[in-house]
Amino acid sequence: METETKDLKYFLEKYGIKLKKRLGQNFLVDKNIIQKEVALAQIKPDETLLEIGPGVGFLTRELLKYAKKVVAIEMDKNLAEILEKELPDKKLEVICADALQIDFPEFDKCVSNIPYEVSSKIILKLGKLRKPAVLIMQKEFAERLAAKPGEREYSKISVMSQYYFDSGILHIVSKKSFFPAPKVDSAIVRLTPKHADLKKSLGISDEEFFLKIIHALFQHKNMTVRNALIHSRNEFGFEKDTAKKIAENISLKDAKVRTLDLAMLAKVAKEIKKHEV
Ligand code: SAH
Repeated sequence: METETKDLKYFLEKYGIKLKKRLGQNFLVDKNIIQKEVALAQIKPDETLLEIGPGVGFLTRELLKYAKKVVAIEMDKNLAEILEKELPDKKLEVICADALQIDFPEFDKCVSNIPYEVSSKIILKLGKLRKPAVLIMQKEFAERLAAKPGEREYSKISVMSQYYFDSGILHIVSKKSFFPAPKVDSAIVRLTPKHADLKKSLGISDEEFFLKIIHALFQHKNMTVRNALIHSRNEFGFEKDTAKKIAENISLKDAKVRTLDLAMLAKVAKEIKKHEV
């Protein structure tokens, strides 16, 4: 395996940097995988790319070869400084910030090896913008994104991400491709935004409310819709008696939350919405 490990150690030593586990600092050092991700991203010369968590810039360097511009958001000040010093390129803009705290700048496609701790939140943020992405993420997390109703891995992030994206695992990445090696393997995943018409065809009139229902119900995904709604009533500010009454009138009340697909959830949301004042 041809790696960037030597370069990484050189940078860390030169700038006196200690890795922060808290920020998910496992760097992708396998040159083969870096190139594979870039190839799978099918970057066009007129595209502006967003990279979240560039680290010391091994992927960034490759992205710059193909894109019009790369905007990289890195939270760790020391790493952001390395990027600016070691990758002087007019096409690169480094933003030193927490990617969850800022509005993303204009971009066409997100290509990143994302920090694992914040994967869910990043996916949802990208989803709201309906932008395509090719990302490396933990394999188990990638499987959750694609899980179908009733499957063990089917969870809130499955539904939410399936509302925004079609997702597919393109390639499994061994944990050995990272330094330091994490405990689990990863995957290269493509996220393709779904058509904005989906909202209309599902009959969703209030998107915020629909997402709130998913959030509330999936806190109790092994319960029936009826019981989950009663347990999560505080999310909607319903009194227990009101929640019970509403729950009784939902046509899918006896279905287990974990078996509901998007269309069923939209139906439940619509029926609950009728009672929201
Ligand atoms: N993409 C690089 C580094 C991956 S490690 C590589 O493949 O080698 C994850 C990176 O994300 C680290 O550099 C870490 O500092 C950064 N990071 C973690 N949380 C972040 C956040 N909320 N916003 C921006 N960057 C973050």
